[in-house]
Amino acid sequence: MTVETVAPITEIIAEIKKAGGDAFKYCYRCGKCDVVCPWNRVRTFSIRKIVQQASFGLAEIDLEDMWRCTTCGTCPSSCPRGVEQIEVGVALRRVASQYGVFPGAAKTVSLVRGRLATEGNPMGEARDARPAWAEGLSVKPFAEGMEVLFFVGCYYSYDPRMRKVAAATARILEHAGVDFGILGASESCCGESIRKTGNEDVFRKLARDNIKAFIDRGVKKILVASPHCFHTFKNEYPEFMVSFEVVYMSQFLEHLVSSGRLKLGKSYPKKVAYHDPCYLGRHNGIYDEPRNLLKQVPGLELVELADSREKSLCCGGGGGRIWMDTPKGERFADIRVAQARDVGARVLVTSCPYCITNFEEAKLGLGDEGEPFEVKDIAEIIHEAIWGTEGSS
Ligand code: SF4
Ligand code: SF4
Repeated sequence: MTVETVAPITEIIAEIKKAGGDAFKYCYRCGKCDVVCPWNRVRTFSIRKIVQQASFGLAEIDLEDMWRCTTCGTCPSSCPRGVEQIEVGVALRRVASQYGVFPGAAKTVSLVRGRLATEGNPMGEARDARPAWAEGLSVKPFAEGMEVLFFVGCYYSYDPRMRKVAAATARILEHAGVDFGILGASESCCGESIRKTGNEDVFRKLARDNIKAFIDRGVKKILVASPHCFHTFKNEYPEFMVSFEVVYMSQFLEHLVSSGRLKLGKSYPKKVAYHDPCYLGRHNGIYDEPRNLLKQVPGLELVELADSREKSLCCGGGGGRIWMDTPKGERFADIRVAQARDVGARVLVTSCPYCITNFEEAKLGLGDEGEPFEVKDIAEIIHEAIWGTEGSS
């Protein structure tokens, strides 16, 4: 099936123009975008072809290909013509979503958008269960005048692996004397990923619900653990004419350690490789604070991966791909875990729920042979550097 069978080409062109102006017409087929695209490490895929076909109105874009882009942000900076490839791709998805066309792996998108619209999370879990991760901890609801709102996010709230990270984070904040609170059941998904699948109406609903919750409670400063929440609060919510101070967890923790509010007394004698999440690094330029934080952990040896900082290799989870099945052999996370092993890392650390989910999956493929290998959120390492392994969650 092609987009021609989905919507009139005039509609497609109009949507793309709305998103990226006319820049997509300037593409001169140099192919530099394809050279850097991570898909071409695992299979044939051409964003150049998609841009070209869209701009010439050929409308022969393969629908499966239309859902591949992870919005990793690698290709836009390589384009000599200023083409916004991600915007073109998302505009095509908007048209497909309006017509309800979700082929192959993208079928789950229709499921997820329904869950987001009703329960405010992509898993379809009950809204009331959102703060269940904090049971047994002394985490308070946010009240006006508190230092910061800890916006937990969907994966940290519901996913069993990520709930441990949320609990470790809360313990660290409490230990450092941070006056923080959460929204609990009033928190909704930030909406970043569903927007990249073209479901603008669901994104706008989620954004409005969150903004209302922030304003009603007098929130001024938001602390986030997911780069996707960070990106959308900082760069997309201002579209609703609001502005909040948004701080990323590793930035905040780095500040707590550097200012002496948090002391890291336990040794973490392991070789650790840090993975830059796309939405923290390339999309928001945060590369140094997580590394500076890790460098302050006693005993920790920090090593760089083959593709790091601006060239970081996407885990494969952005752009809604976290909800789609990617066949074995086509998973970027498998390459990333292999890169970590190649530099002798014992631990692959990052700070994004999508990256952790994909790396944990890739780790399973390693089996039990060879050196022990762990995937960690940066907060888990900080937790261990405060309390040691006995206090670990
Ligand atoms: S890098 Fe830019 S100009 Fe070159 S093929 Fe890609 S979109 Fe076209
Ligand atoms: S944003 Fe990333 S995944 Fe999407 S086309 Fe560009 S390089 Fe490929």
